[in-house]
Amino acid sequence: PKKSAQRETEAEGDVLGIRISSADRLLFSDPAISKIDLARYYGVVADRMLPFAAHHPASILRCPQGPEHACFYQKHAGDGFLDEIAQVPIKESDGETANYLYIEDAKGLVAAVQMGTIEFHIWGSTVDRLDAADRLVFDLDPDPSVSFDTVKIAARAVRARLSDLGLQSVAMVSGGKGIHVIVPLSRRAAWETAKAFARGLAIKISENDPDNYIATMSKAKRKGRIFIDWLRNERGSTAVAPYSVRARTGGPVATPVSWDELETLDSANGFAIPDILDRLETDDPWAEARDWKQGLTKAMLKAVDAG
Ligand code: ATP
Ligand code: MN
Ligand code: MN
Repeated sequence: PKKSAQRETEAEGDVLGIRISSADRLLFSDPAISKIDLARYYGVVADRMLPFAAHHPASILRCPQGPEHACFYQKHAGDGFLDEIAQVPIKESDGETANYLYIEDAKGLVAAVQMGTIEFHIWGSTVDRLDAADRLVFDLDPDPSVSFDTVKIAARAVRARLSDLGLQSVAMVSGGKGIHVIVPLSRRAAWETAKAFARGLAIKISENDPDNYIATMSKAKRKGRIFIDWLRNERGSTAVAPYSVRARTGGPVATPVSWDELETLDSANGFAIPDILDRLETDDPWAEARDWKQGLTKAMLKAVDAG
């Protein structure tokens, strides 16, 4: 009987055919989320997450004992990695080549959870074309004194600037304090171009309203302002993936929202796993972005003094 009971436990600890050890380990307490809950979550959210997050080199935030204990970012595939997590050799700035990890499918997400992953962060380019961005991210980072309503105004301002130039964008609340305004690019941009454009746009916005915005990282100068973090738009930089859970109290999720819904929100960390599971029953707020055909043009670069 002992043996069969053990087998039963193992069966319970199985998600998409991947064995989840310490399946009952509580990762978050309110709402209560165990390790296997997290694995199941990523297993079902994969359909919405992976169109944007698959095949991009990734950094995973691993917290093997849970998010209240030691956590570490990992971008290189290492010993003991499960086969479901894909690897790609990438030449680094020092000329050495290292194996980076990326996610191909739902099993990859689940395997990462088995290895203690809570958060997924992704590059802005895919493994088959590392040198050209398939999206831009404007990561709005408010000084702690700035209200979320003001961050929403900032997101609208970035959207409007982009729209004036002919670029459509989507919004994501980060699960932390800010909003990411994301520009999917079907006609990819060489990193140099992507970075120059993102920097140029951030500078334009901050010059236009220097009381509210800043385009440099300086924490001192951020007082009362929002840093338009354009530095996500570099080869090798990452931003948190849509639908990634955050290793913070309450297990907030980086959540894609429509521009209309954003107006109704009062924080960037208001969605947890149960909320996302409910949202999967409703329309995908980013559905139409999958079909957008857009890229950076010379005129756009010129408009932000970057070309
Ligand atoms: P918030 O809304 O609270 O700012 P965020 O996810 O945008 O949440 P940031 O500190 O602005 O957090 O970081 C933006 C992105 O930069 C992160 O999502 C992450 O991908 C990347 N990043 C930041 N710090 C690190 C780090 N130490 N190692 C790896 N990636 C990092
Ligand atoms: Mn941020
Ligand atoms: Mn940032």
